[in-house]
Amino acid sequence: MFDLMIRGGKIIDGTGSPAYRAEVYIRGDRIAEIGGRPDERAAFRQAQGAARILDVDGLIVAPGFIDVHSHYDRLLLAQKPDDSKVVQGVTTEIVGNCGFALAPVNPDFRELLVTQTSAIMGEGDLPWLTFGGYLSALEAAAPPVNVGALAGHNAVRVAAMGFENRPARPDELARMKGYVAEAMDAGALGLSTGLVYPPGTFAKTDEVVELAKVVRPYGGLYASHIRNEANRLIEAATEAITVGEEAGVPVQISHCKASGSSNWGKGAALMRTIREANGRGLDVTGDQYPYLAGSTLLSTLLPPWAHEGGVPELLTRLRSAEMRGRMKHDMEHGSGDWWNPSKNTSWDGVLIAASPRMPEIEGKSLERLVREAGRDPYETLFTLLEQTRCQILMIIFLMTEDDVRTIMRDANVMIGTDALATGSKPHPRSYGTYPRVLGKYVRDERVLDLPEAIRKMTSLPAQKFKLKDRGIIRRGVHADLVIFDPQRIQDTATYDNPVQHPRGVPYVLVNGVFGVDDGRVTGARAGKVLRRG
Ligand SMILES: [Zn+2]
Repeated sequence: MFDLMIRGGKIIDGTGSPAYRAEVYIRGDRIAEIGGRPDERAAFRQAQGAARILDVDGLIVAPGFIDVHSHYDRLLLAQKPDDSKVVQGVTTEIVGNCGFALAPVNPDFRELLVTQTSAIMGEGDLPWLTFGGYLSALEAAAPPVNVGALAGHNAVRVAAMGFENRPARPDELARMKGYVAEAMDAGALGLSTGLVYPPGTFAKTDEVVELAKVVRPYGGLYASHIRNEANRLIEAATEAITVGEEAGVPVQISHCKASGSSNWGKGAALMRTIREANGRGLDVTGDQYPYLAGSTLLSTLLPPWAHEGGVPELLTRLRSAEMRGRMKHDMEHGSGDWWNPSKNTSWDGVLIAASPRMPEIEGKSLERLVREAGRDPYETLFTLLEQTRCQILMIIFLMTEDDVRTIMRDANVMIGTDALATGSKPHPRSYGTYPRVLGKYVRDERVLDLPEAIRKMTSLPAQKFKLKDRGIIRRGVHADLVIFDPQRIQDTATYDNPVQHPRGVPYVLVNGVFGVDDGRVTGARAGKVLRRG
């Protein structure tokens, strides 16, 4: 007896192979059987039966999507399950990206970790000290989808040395290595960095190599939001590859893009750089979200030196007319190697996504806020950051469609949302990423074919992050499935109206349990914490 038979659909198994017609039988949390020849199937059905039969004529049955780039580290702990991912067909998320993580917690620097992570992940307690403690909390919370986690360089550096703008001393480096080892022992999948964010940005390459070496014996990978996604894009990608090469670990380049109009077209060179590294025997891949705007902390518009000491010292600087003058000078004229995002978009190209301390500005552009304030744009920006204690997320338009397509076509690139967890006007990628790839880019624009798009969402990430028996439809694997209508699937989330469920995804199963059933979110919490090994 089976719990579920899915019949009438076409299976796209996640490997890149073409669709084929067969029934899928589920027992418990596993795919128990996939239909064989028609005569066998009939006999099988009669002999076995199923508690529920789901007719999905005209629909595609695919492995559940694996979101390799999520920032829902805290949202997945919530009392009320989040539904933005499961409605897209996502059944597994990887958190701990861009160096941001909610553990380890050094009580001496707890406040710095809280202020650093709360805008991106939401506010809340940090009742654990270790990475293992965080994973246990996730497990206890019973998330709606499966979750794997990376150790985060920013979190590790904060715990070891606060927000110091200097290389780590030997004792501090040893402490950081200890934290990374502790995370790997607890089941982390690898190490992530966010080398544009303080305090990660204060580290040089050698520090990152030393930390990446710790994950090697565990079979972990190195994922990086690279140091520069704009005028020094290729140099920054090369740095990430060097880390992988010197530490002997696979590399994942996060949210591949070319930022700023003067860098448009560099998507091809980025893909070439990745291919060349693979040609040398390394293991380098990337991920991407299918949009022309990014989303991150509004405070990343400020020059790096302003962040020394973390949010408390940044607030002190924002209160000083002299420091405001220096920040404005550097934002207008640049400083050293720093790539200055505000000079690469207009004030109109920056939208407020989240501002929990001043929600009335969510959804407005900086240009509009400047107009309403009737003041100098820089002064307006500094005042907003000061008033909200820097707890603001922005959406910032930086990319071009040609690069998005070039990157998406590349066989080494998988799909991830980069979804952040706060605000009433989040980036539409939080609700729309996967349906947008399958609707706009596969069906409507034919940028890639359907089996290949599914591979980028399933088996490719499962292989890279070593998620055993997931990301593929095969007898015996975990029953993580999405069933969608290839003719109807469509994202509906927009920048103006981002909290919108997509169309054309009627069924999603997480470990054999319906997360979406006949288009309705069930609220089931069948996700597991996926520990390495
Ligand atoms: Zn990032």
